[in-house]
Amino acid sequence: MRPSDRRKSTPASAGRASRPEAAQAEAFPHRRDRLARVIRAKKLDALVVSDRSNVRYLTGFRGEDSWLLITPKKSLILSDARFTDQIAEECPGLEAEIRLPGSGRTLLSMSAQIIQSLRVRNVGFEKRALSYADAQSLIEASSTTTWTPTEDLVEGLRVFKDKHEIRSMREAVSVAERAFTVLRASLRAEDREKDLADRLEGTMRSLGGECSAFPSICAVGPRAALPHAIPGSTRVGEHPILLVDWGARWGSYNSDLTRVLVTGPSSSKIEKVYQTVLSAQKKAIEAIRPGARAGDVDRIARRTIEEAGFGRYFGHSLGHGLGLKVHEAPGLREGSDVLLEPGMIVTVEPGIYLKDWGGVRIEDDVLVTKAGHEVLTSVPKEFDEVIVGIS
Ligand code: ZN
Ligand code: ZN
Repeated sequence: MRPSDRRKSTPASAGRASRPEAAQAEAFPHRRDRLARVIRAKKLDALVVSDRSNVRYLTGFRGEDSWLLITPKKSLILSDARFTDQIAEECPGLEAEIRLPGSGRTLLSMSAQIIQSLRVRNVGFEKRALSYADAQSLIEASSTTTWTPTEDLVEGLRVFKDKHEIRSMREAVSVAERAFTVLRASLRAEDREKDLADRLEGTMRSLGGECSAFPSICAVGPRAALPHAIPGSTRVGEHPILLVDWGARWGSYNSDLTRVLVTGPSSSKIEKVYQTVLSAQKKAIEAIRPGARAGDVDRIARRTIEEAGFGRYFGHSLGHGLGLKVHEAPGLREGSDVLLEPGMIVTVEPGIYLKDWGGVRIEDDVLVTKAGHEVLTSVPKEFDEVIVGIS
């Protein structure tokens, strides 16, 4: 190891205070301590964290191509010269090993070399985050190490959001909701789906969001029957149903909502489908509390939709966990035995999709609390509140 490459990151500069991560600074060592306890319990000497969201969760680092090596006693981020200053700024106090240009080292060779030098024997790696080729290279480059594939060690901690994470998610919700209000007020019949997505995403950025949480879905009429429609050139005025599925990212955390607006003459079919989805969603949200089985919450929504005769048109699970990733644990899906616990945040998003006609999905973000739940999102969703007049 070349000592010149290793450094302690400098303390936070005054400028950091305005960044969302600054407020979380004390949370990162605490999260690493919790992971160290997990590592010990798994009888590992060290863990190589290569999943980018997991590295972000444990260190605050927002860049890429960097791994965290963690032992019960020590944490070391492995990165390259592109990120020297960023690591110093985002991860004050964290030891960093920086690969310099021309050193001939790769992230893999540097990791293997450091692991050998630390004399750790049983080292875990994240089997979902490392490609087969990378895992093979790592194993070949460190002959005295026993490599153990692991899963969900960090994800298991991430399931429970701490106060900093909940605060970031409230901001992500707020940005998304304000942007939707702007979009709704500006709707015109000649707007194309793509225009709406562009406007919505630009507004989320201008309102303080980092970016959109995922490519927004704006789908008119029959296009709304595709749960993951890509915005195209269909115009709002061509059909009374407009489905918008969008979210903002703030401080690396995501929100995820869906609303359907009725932009033209309604019909009894539109109202029936809408009210069925809304009723299924409300009943499922009511059932969310500590100790509730994720599969039972899904079942409650599914049964409501089945009883209205639309069971076969609800072809996805009820919801998913939300945080640093848009889809993470726990999933609200059929048959899941996961028990909900305080601190979990899930989406609740039943839908009915009728080919060549259209679709309705209503999605909110829900925090499991000690007393039950708190719906973090608040965009109006009663049927009479989603009817908009457009010119
Ligand atoms: Zn969504
Ligand atoms: Zn979702």
